[in-house]
Order: sequence, then structure tokens, then C-alpha cells
Amino acid sequence: MPHVGARAILRTAQREGYGVPCLLAGNMEMLIGAVRAAEAIGAPLILAYNANVTPQIPIQAMVHAMVHAARATHVPVATILDHGTDLATVAQAIQLGISTVMYDGSHLPFTENVRTTQEVVRTAHAAGVEVEGELGTIGGSSIELGYVNSGSEFTDPALAAEFVSQTGIDILAVSFGNAHGVYSGAPQLDLGRVRSIAAGVDVPLAMHGGSGLDRTSYAAVIAAGISKINYYSAMGIAVTRMLRAYLATAPDNELIFHQVIDFTIKQFYTETSRLLTILGCKDRFSSKNALS
Ligand SMILES: [Zn+2]
Repeated sequence: MPHVGARAILRTAQREGYGVPCLLAGNMEMLIGAVRAAEAIGAPLILAYNANVTPQIPIQAMVHAMVHAARATHVPVATILDHGTDLATVAQAIQLGISTVMYDGSHLPFTENVRTTQEVVRTAHAAGVEVEGELGTIGGSSIELGYVNSGSEFTDPALAAEFVSQTGIDILAVSFGNAHGVYSGAPQLDLGRVRSIAAGVDVPLAMHGGSGLDRTSYAAVIAAGISKINYYSAMGIAVTRMLRAYLATAPDNELIFHQVIDFTIKQFYTETSRLLTILGCKDRFSSKNALS
């Protein structure tokens, strides 16, 4: 199946009532675990590179590997630059063959966010690449992820409609009580706001900070109009916990690094399979059908 932009995957998900995870491909273990899981259960997938989270892994190496993996699968896989902060990085990701770029101008005043996002859309669309923009600030409590808590400002539905029509973006990331990193307590999500935003725009909506919700909340978030769910912290913590237990049981000198790599891939595979099933992605694609 060809490497695709995220919009077609998300439009199909919206129509059929499921959510699609956007997973970090921060290194090869994460990438291989995620793609194998999607293939094994017939799910679509969005793979992300994020320079805030894995600055030690060069964008060139990871994007090439992501694009190669997307082209080699029989399920639809999109690739995205997560939280591109400037035109130069966006241009670099496009040049490396990515199918979608996120440009995050949410910290800027509205008119400035519109202006810079328009510029990204012009550059990306000229290369056949799709764009995710962001309006409203998504808070974050995790310094490790490179996000600072800026005090969330929820997305205004009227401004969201204006933002989408003025910029021509393909996907909109919204703020409605979601936050990057680990939630302290159950998140208070304003789903009425999501419904209002969804009613006023004709593009799929993205939820950043999508890990750490309980199972029923995902169904509610998807029913309200979210189709792209950025998910990392809970998975990163779960895999680390299993890795710690695995290392603790191995006697000295009986474990070599390539075995650790193998174990880690299996953990990302298991966690991804679980998530894809929770979001309703299981058995959506096989080698016999394609995106409609
Ligand atoms: Zn994000």
C-alpha cells in the first residue's frame, strides 16, 4: 500500500467512527514495534518524528526509515513531523519525503499563527505534503518531552473555523483540556467544545496528549469528533517498566544488547496492538482492501 498523507486515513476513520493513533517513531525499536502491530491486526497508523522528544536521533535517519516502512506495509501508514517549529525544519522534513507536517504556531497571536501557517501550507502543498495546524495552546507538564506548561487556552470554535478557512490546513490540533506528558488526575475534557469545533470545520481534528485516558474516554473523545490521537507518555512508561523487570531478572553476562533490542520491539508491539484495538482500528484493512 502506498505511503499516504494522514488526512485520508483520518477521514476514513471519522466516517467509520474510530480513532487513529499518532505514535512516535523515536528509534528503530519504536518504529518496528508499531508498524508490525498495525500490519498484524489490519490497522492504519500515523508515525511521527518529534525533535523535542528524541533530539539525539537525527531527523534524516528516522524519516527515511519511517517512509521506507510506510511504503513496505499493506496497511495505510502516514508519516508526520510532529510540532515543527519553523519553516526550515518543515522544509527539511518535506525534502526527506515525509507525507504530512505539523506546524505549531499556537503560541503566536492569532493573526501571526494564520500568517506563518499559510506559509507552511503553501510550501507543503506545492510538494504534495499535507499540513496539521494548531489553534489554542495544549498545556504540558512534562519537561522531559520539551513542553513547558504555558497555561492552556482552549480552542475557540468560531476562531477555529476562521483559522481553517484562512490557512487551508488539512488537520487541526485542538485544545479542550488535553495536555502533553502525564496527567495528574483524570483530565477534564470539554467534549462540547470538540463537538462545536467539529461542526464548524471540514477537516479532521487531532488530540495531542492522548495517552493516560481510561478506555471509555477514548470512545467519547472519538464520538465528539476527534480522529487523530497523539499517544506516547503512557506507552513509553509501560515499556520502560517491562524493560526494567526484564533486565533485573537476567543474570550477569547472560544478556547482550541485541537481546534487549528484541525485547523492546516486542513491548512496543504489544502496547501498540492494545492501543489500536482500544481505538477501534483492528481489522479495518487487509491486503484486499484499501483506503476509500
Ligand atoms: Zn503535541
